[in-house]
Amino acid sequence: MTERAYVREVGLRDGLQMVKTVLSSDRKLEWCCGALDAGISEIELTSFVPAKIVPQFADSDEVFRRANETRTNGTLSALVPNLRGAQRGMELGVGKLNYVLSASEEHNMANVRRSTDESIADFGRIVQLRDAATGVGVRLGAGIATSFGCTISGAVSEQRVVAIAERLAALGADEIIVADTVGYGDPAQVKRLMSAVVRAVAPLPVAAHFHDTRGLGLANVAAALDAGVRAFDASLGGLGGCPFAPGATGNIDTEDTVFMLEAMGFDTGIDIERLIALRAKVERWLPGEKMGGAIARAGVPKTFRMPVEKAA
Ligand code: ZN
Repeated sequence: MTERAYVREVGLRDGLQMVKTVLSSDRKLEWCCGALDAGISEIELTSFVPAKIVPQFADSDEVFRRANETRTNGTLSALVPNLRGAQRGMELGVGKLNYVLSASEEHNMANVRRSTDESIADFGRIVQLRDAATGVGVRLGAGIATSFGCTISGAVSEQRVVAIAERLAALGADEIIVADTVGYGDPAQVKRLMSAVVRAVAPLPVAAHFHDTRGLGLANVAAALDAGVRAFDASLGGLGGCPFAPGATGNIDTEDTVFMLEAMGFDTGIDIERLIALRAKVERWLPGEKMGGAIARAGVPKTFRMPVEKAA
């Protein structure tokens, strides 16, 4: 039996927060639904931050409501940096909220103006809010940014990242997301740290969020697979960045990540040709943005077996 691996599309959030073109709600919806139709199981649709901070996300509530009405499969999630964002997400009925804090104190201060400890305490309050709510409980991902190093403070201790992961797990996270926000990680470091986090929070699922800033994105995915990680954030055409991580352009590319996972024998449930077609659309919508990706450029090799054929 083929082992399952998951790819979460974060282009609408991590990708769009840095691009110059403000994409219309209709196009965001088309991107989201196109990715769900291709078989992506989770779309991180937006970030619940004030519109004055990221104008691209001014229509977040509307985009979420419409996507939620239209979709027939998959999970819609949103990134939340604080309790207020989580409240907004829960009121809207978002199925999954991915909270994020930074392992680097300086990065956390720049991003959300509080210490990492205060952000961990905020996550506890979000869990309480979730548990107090009636009806279907929202799932909570807990992300640790700058886990592999920080553009402001440099090295981040691996023990510190593991300790933060343990605290977030103990507070009630449904998933731990370890993020190389600024693209500093290398495969040896990834294998070491991801193995330690996977061990520390087992059986909780651990996802990885890599940027391809220095060309090691997919090598880091391979190292994380070795460490037992089976879920990856990626962005169509490799769009991405962070307002407080200069030069951190480029999430790992969704199409290339899906290709690598499928080629290695994992079942992603994703139709790569549909992803390539969607990427071409998004590229047209964002004139002047540099989109990466080897598979869109070169096509899948003749030896590549599509998921449907595998099933036969
Ligand atoms: Zn990122």
